[in-house]
Amino acid sequence: MIEQAQYTPAELKQMREVFVGGSMPECPRCRVHMTERPIGGGSFGLGYARRREWLICPNCRRSAIYDIKRGTRN
Ligand SMILES: [Zn+2]
Repeated sequence: MIEQAQYTPAELKQMREVFVGGSMPECPRCRVHMTERPIGGGSFGLGYARRREWLICPNCRRSAIYDIKRGTRN
C-alpha cells in the first residue's frame, strides 16, 4: 500500500481562503495550481445554497473537498 498523505488542517484552511477569494490555490507541497473537479449530484439549478468543490493536485494527487456557501453574497 502506498501511504496516502493528506494536507494538514492549516494547509486546507489556507487553500480554502484562496479559493473563496476567487483564485485557484496552489498545492502547498508542489507549488502547482490545483485542478477543480466537479462533484456529481445534480444540484445544478435546484437552488442549493451550498456547492461542493473538489480540488486535486495534479502532481501529488492530494485532494481537498470544500463546501462553499453560495447564494447570499460574494
Ligand atoms: Zn501537490
